[in-house]
Amino acid sequence: MAQPHRIVVVGTGLAGASAAAAVREQGFTGDVVLLGRDPRSPYELPALSKGILLRDADEPDWVRDEGFYAERGIDLHTGTDVRELHLGERVVVDGDGTRHGYDRLVLATGCAPRTLPVPGAELAGLRTLRTLDDALALRDVLGDGVPVVIVGAGWIGCEVAAAARKHGAEVTVIDPLPLPLHRTLGDTVAEVFRDLHARHGVTWRLGTGVAGFVGDEGVVTGVRLDDGTVLPAEVVVVGVGAAPRVELAKAAGLELCDSVPGGGVAVDASLRTSAPDVFAVGDIAAHFHPRYGRRVRVEHWANAKDQGTHVAGTLLGGAEPYTASPYFFSDQYDLGMEVRGLANPFTDDLVVRGDLAAAEFTAFWTRGGRVLAAMNVNQWDDGDALQALVDIQAAVSPDDLRNADLADLT
Ligand SMILES: Cc1cc2nc3c(=O)[nH]c(=O)nc-3n(C[C@H](O)[C@H](O)[C@H](O)COP(=O)(O)OP(=O)(O)OC[C@H]3O[C@@H](n4cnc5c(N)ncnc54)[C@H](O)[C@@H]3O)c2cc1C
Repeated sequence: MAQPHRIVVVGTGLAGASAAAAVREQGFTGDVVLLGRDPRSPYELPALSKGILLRDADEPDWVRDEGFYAERGIDLHTGTDVRELHLGERVVVDGDGTRHGYDRLVLATGCAPRTLPVPGAELAGLRTLRTLDDALALRDVLGDGVPVVIVGAGWIGCEVAAAARKHGAEVTVIDPLPLPLHRTLGDTVAEVFRDLHARHGVTWRLGTGVAGFVGDEGVVTGVRLDDGTVLPAEVVVVGVGAAPRVELAKAAGLELCDSVPGGGVAVDASLRTSAPDVFAVGDIAAHFHPRYGRRVRVEHWANAKDQGTHVAGTLLGGAEPYTASPYFFSDQYDLGMEVRGLANPFTDDLVVRGDLAAAEFTAFWTRGGRVLAAMNVNQWDDGDALQALVDIQAAVSPDDLRNADLADLT
């Protein structure tokens, strides 16, 4: 393929901004145009539900310093909504009708928070958390004694609960599943998180769905559970997952993937979509992962950063597959954790090293004796060893996983 002259990136999140930065860092001297809906310079999301909500920070982590884009000749357009993609003409059209021609395009439009299709879903005051403005507005209303109801006990719901408790709010978390983070962690490890939050004063309403939201003069004042109970709330946060923003790709006729949860834009191992000059990275990309032999879509920070960087090589003519293992981290109260790899906690075998009750342990998920995923909780010495075990899917006995020096196993 001929070298590109003009690369356009849609989406100024971590994936898109990393792609734009990386093409410059890899020596590309043609035009780079970075278009994004958010009014701010590109920033990372993890601090929104941690440092920002906790009031430890007023700013998120910026993907690059403010001056970076201008200094490197990256034509950054914030507050710019891309509405159309015309594959044949190789052009995207923004909300002002401006046409941005490309000879390579990167789609990095991320995810949008899901909402619940229940009565009252239109009420004002229902909050989701995806942008810096969402986080700043939410932290303003988290205060001592404020009744806060969080719908959804996933990562965002749990992190918001931890921040709200830090500010003394009265926090109830609702989820139809029997445990928080259940789908990702399975029974035994999810119980650690249930107990952690309970110890910090969170009230769980697990195994319970939301029938609707109730309000007064158009503003939400409570959450109605499946059993008819109404939980009064001054603050209601809906954290029921996020859906990839595939609208542009779909309307343009790019291949989508429905074999991954939530769907996504289908890309091959080197992050190329069904159109040879269009690529997709980050939360929207349903990527054919060579190690797993199937498409996976990963909604995590490291994936956005690393796919954004990796695609620069593909844009500039390479064909290297993206092979990194998924990696994720979370902080809740005094618990910090990382997960590496991909496993099914309901069908894979769990091996625990350390002390679950003290929340100081490493959990391994194995299949056929091979390590598929590892999660270290308040244990920080073995990161490299865990990465290596997961990357090579090492065959290790449960006894060694529990007791041996992990560095000796790789
Ligand atoms: C509150 C929060 C906390 C998180 N914490 C963690 C964590 O602790 N650990 C972890 O591993 N992961 C975490 N994540 C997940 C991680 O941040 C995401 O996986 C990552 O940010 C995805 O990056 P992205 O660039 O693919 O998408 P996004 O960050 O969603 O960026 C997409 C960008 O595209 C823009 N856009 C969309 N459509 C258009 C359009 N048509 N025109 C123009 N622009 C458009 C959006 O406005 C957005 O700015 C967290 C996510 C959230 C929301």
